[in-house]
Amino acid sequence: MGMARLTAGQLAAATSGLSCVHRYGWVWTEGVDVTSRRSFRTECGLCCAPLTDPPLAAFADMPALAQHFPSEKELSGDGRVDFSVLECAACGLVQVDSAPVYYFRDVIRASAYSPAMRDFRLKQFAQWIDAYGLSGKRILEVGCGRGEFLELLRLSGVEATGLEHNADSVGHCRGAGLPVVCGYPSAAGESLAGAPYDGFISLSFLEHAADLRDFLLGVRRALSPGAVGLVEVPNFDMIYRSGLSAEFMTDHLWYFSESTLRRTLEFSGFDVLECSVIWHDYIISAVVRARVGLSSAGFAETRDRLAGDLERFFSETPRGKAAVWGAGHQALAVIAMYGLERFVQCVVDSAPFKQGKFTPGTHLPVLSPSVLRADSALTSVLVAVGSYADEVVKSLLNEYPEHLQIGILKSDRVERVIR
Ligand SMILES: [Zn+2]
Repeated sequence: MGMARLTAGQLAAATSGLSCVHRYGWVWTEGVDVTSRRSFRTECGLCCAPLTDPPLAAFADMPALAQHFPSEKELSGDGRVDFSVLECAACGLVQVDSAPVYYFRDVIRASAYSPAMRDFRLKQFAQWIDAYGLSGKRILEVGCGRGEFLELLRLSGVEATGLEHNADSVGHCRGAGLPVVCGYPSAAGESLAGAPYDGFISLSFLEHAADLRDFLLGVRRALSPGAVGLVEVPNFDMIYRSGLSAEFMTDHLWYFSESTLRRTLEFSGFDVLECSVIWHDYIISAVVRARVGLSSAGFAETRDRLAGDLERFFSETPRGKAAVWGAGHQALAVIAMYGLERFVQCVVDSAPFKQGKFTPGTHLPVLSPSVLRADSALTSVLVAVGSYADEVVKSLLNEYPEHLQIGILKSDRVERVIR
């Protein structure tokens, strides 16, 4: 197997910023030979499931890098690598088993776009901006390269900012008067300058990311909740249908079909609003929305309200003269959460296998409901049996002593039973 020997600078660029212990399946520590590319990956880089064997395709003695053209002096250090293309058994994502190239954070676009591409992008951006009300909004281009599309975004009527890791490209953009943040998306670490943005685009960049989920969660972190994005990648459906082996390379770690792109985005903080194939079948284009997180307010509100109701219900009963009817999971949780051991002498339950035992964690005796008839000292009972409450209350009213005060535990309050 051939080797690509990297210079010290390239090695540092490849390893800097990558955490030693990677959360999603692979480990990269100082001293790992990044030039050895065989079977770098044996688990899916998205979902960690095993990759299918045998591979979809295997390649030997291939160029190690597609975007580093060695100078004459570098020729002796330039070599070849072997790699395989594998499908994930679980999520279906197709991926190469090689390590990322040292410049995976940099956008390297071979040339400026053609006039046809320019027209296509202007029309596409205008439609996207119109459809999602983005006119005048702050849009981040993740991986902006030398600012080719930033210019078009500005022409389309949004306030465009670029995010680019390559220092030369950042300098070029700034020289052209285009605002650019130097960096790379990551779910951890410092937040991005100018964040949160109202929307983003990322064109032909995701397939280079060493860690898909960290990249996408990093993008999401730079957005306001519900922000809309445009994500584009090369179309693997076309590569597969046409059997195009020459499309595989170590620069592109991930080969998305429409379904695996959707799955990747939805697994990484986004909802997919639209997904289609564009540009002569070469590109998959997805419109996404940064998923809005859930709120904890509802749980807290219910908890506060119930705490007040329980306190009021039991404070009217002499301490230790109350019982809870029901030893189901909800009753056990309520006893523990609100410290009902302070008020309650026992728990009654009609399930014989619970009787004679104690409540888990809170250690109240579990007795037969007949104790409510036998022990006249018990003066109140909280019915905590969920959907069986009507049945239990009916029985309490008809078959148990009249002095018993009855409360029903509802999801967010205690309801008194008036005789
Ligand atoms: Zn997978």
